[in-house]
Amino acid sequence: MAKSNTDEFLQNNQQYASGQVVHKAGHPGKQPIQPSRRVAVVACMDARLDVEDLLGLQTGEAHIIRNAGGVVTEDAIRCLIISHHLLNTNEIILIHHTRCGMLAFTDDLLKAGLEGDPAAEKLLGQATGRNFVSAGKASTSPVAFHAFRGQLEPLDSPRDGKNTERLEWDVRRGMSAILNHPWLPTIGADAVTVRGFIYDVDTGKLEEVKYPGPMGSIG
Ligand SMILES: [Zn+2]
Repeated sequence: MAKSNTDEFLQNNQQYASGQVVHKAGHPGKQPIQPSRRVAVVACMDARLDVEDLLGLQTGEAHIIRNAGGVVTEDAIRCLIISHHLLNTNEIILIHHTRCGMLAFTDDLLKAGLEGDPAAEKLLGQATGRNFVSAGKASTSPVAFHAFRGQLEPLDSPRDGKNTERLEWDVRRGMSAILNHPWLPTIGADAVTVRGFIYDVDTGKLEEVKYPGPMGSIG
């Protein structure tokens, strides 16, 4: 089987993790609108992830969609449909990462804190090390924060088996959401492929998540 772009980016990642520079900075000149490697990446907004650097991507090669968690949200799906059907990408890469903030709260906790629950305010203040200031108001949006499933842990906790599993669950949920979306084809000549990874912010290395597999338990 021919080597995919994703395989090539994984080789770039090994170079990146060993301290080499693969992504070239600087304006490359005129380029087409379609990403030249036909790749779309969905990654967390975490400040420790330089997506172009860690994959060795060059300007013009890929779409990069980022949000809190690298979650496959309704808006990420919107971007992926446009990316594929209008701009010709066919390889999707999902990137979650160790020490992610989305491991450290739940949707209910953050909502209750924002709405003025003193217990939630106190917990969030302790968890983040900043004074959590409640709005004291309810809102219908966002509908969800998409905090990761599973037992809460302190912010920026080092990697262990448990939190790695929680990251894997969410990567698989994202892969499943893409693979089962009616507007993202997965068979035939126009098919897209999806692979999911966990990026270790301490080592700079990407590790692939096996799919299919567990997508989380209510515990
Ligand atoms: Zn994150």
